[in-house]
Amino acid sequence: MTESYDLVIIGGGIHGAGIAQAAAARGLSVMVLEQTGIASGTSSRSSKLIHGGLRYLESGQLSLVRECLHERALLLKLAPQLVKLKSFYIPVYPDTTRRPWLLRTGLSLYALLGGLHPAARFRRVPPSLWQNLDGLDTTHLEAVFQYSDAQTDDAMLTRAVMRSAQQMGAHLKMPATFTGACLGQQDERDNIIEYRHNGQTETCAATVLVNAAGPWVQQVSSRIIPVPAQPGIDLVQGTHIIVPGILTQGIYYVEAEDKRVVFVMPWQNNTLVGTTESAYQGDPADVRPLPHEQAYLLQTLARYFPQHRGRQPILTAIAGLRVLPSSGSGAMSVNARSRETILHPDRQDHPRLLTVYGGKLTTYRLTAERVMAHLAGVLPVRKVIADTRHLKLD
Ligand SMILES: Cc1cc2nc3c(=O)[nH]c(=O)nc-3n(C[C@H](O)[C@H](O)[C@H](O)COP(=O)(O)OP(=O)(O)OC[C@H]3O[C@@H](n4cnc5c(N)ncnc54)[C@H](O)[C@@H]3O)c2cc1C
Repeated sequence: MTESYDLVIIGGGIHGAGIAQAAAARGLSVMVLEQTGIASGTSSRSSKLIHGGLRYLESGQLSLVRECLHERALLLKLAPQLVKLKSFYIPVYPDTTRRPWLLRTGLSLYALLGGLHPAARFRRVPPSLWQNLDGLDTTHLEAVFQYSDAQTDDAMLTRAVMRSAQQMGAHLKMPATFTGACLGQQDERDNIIEYRHNGQTETCAATVLVNAAGPWVQQVSSRIIPVPAQPGIDLVQGTHIIVPGILTQGIYYVEAEDKRVVFVMPWQNNTLVGTTESAYQGDPADVRPLPHEQAYLLQTLARYFPQHRGRQPILTAIAGLRVLPSSGSGAMSVNARSRETILHPDRQDHPRLLTVYGGKLTTYRLTAERVMAHLAGVLPVRKVIADTRHLKLD
């Protein structure tokens, strides 16, 4: 007999895991299909920040920043072993475009959006303390601002969310590759989902199918019959490098030569530097760090930390793919493009399908709750087990 679920989710990244958790918490029967491993896609290749996104203030994305700061506060409580508050430092030199008045304004707004919580406070670091800042170049240094945001291990966080979902009854099939679905309009018996598992083709039925395949989202959509309408998206590659060197004070928020923000962060007793933004076309599985991206990050690192000048050892380089709304004409810069998650229900043709585009690690829980709200009229009502606002993660 064909197995039947309330919800089948394609993708074991942070969104798939988060949606599985939110659904299982509502007592729904859930299955996640993951082709490779939990967090094997973008969710292990991020900058690992649970943050409001100070730079999104520049593009006026205030509601996104407020939501992110709210989720940050929650995750600091729910996952204290996994999400940790860190000091962030922003140095200002004569050629820094974000001048002290602008930073003070931005950080004040950030504190306001963070509810003026103690973790939202910022300060100007006195020059007498600059020598403690991990070898930061103090030549012509005009000011340093310090504020707080959080860092996590993205893959561990994703696995913790998936475990939480499984503890409430969610099923995980892995490795299991979604190969196709034929979606009907009436009830779950109409929605037949096909996947490869243990070398076999298996099928199941589901009331609702959620496509949370991250950069593979279009590939997955194209395997659904009838083929759903899709919003225009771009895949944008972001690379990080890991170099030797321990940072003891926190995370540095610096400006690259092209004025983009680059983070220099402590990571597993080394230093993580990222990220870049390059348009990507091709199979998401083939994304690789590019030589020019690695050179750009090394050059930015050396600009601010003279101890890295002339030294080029890269221990590892990692590339991930963002899913962003299409730039269309190309006039809209990557930085200004919304990082908000797009939920794409297609009520007319596909009332039983929901597709997740883009989004942030930080807001995965909120996204999952929104997915549940979108599907409220289609999914059955079951006995609620828990509320994700109170579920501890470890
Ligand atoms: C460079 C970079 C830096 C970032 N930094 C941050 C940050 O600091 N903070 C933050 O909040 N956000 C950050 N983000 C955003 C965040 O990382 C992503 O929004 C998030 O990880 C996306 O998760 P996802 O679950 O949608 O996709 P993914 O993690 O990619 O998961 C999709 C999963 O679907 C699976 N899959 C695909 N096709 C199939 C199939 N046919 N069958 C079965 N499984 C399939 C894949 O194997 C994969 O595991 C960053 C993103 C990038 C690219």
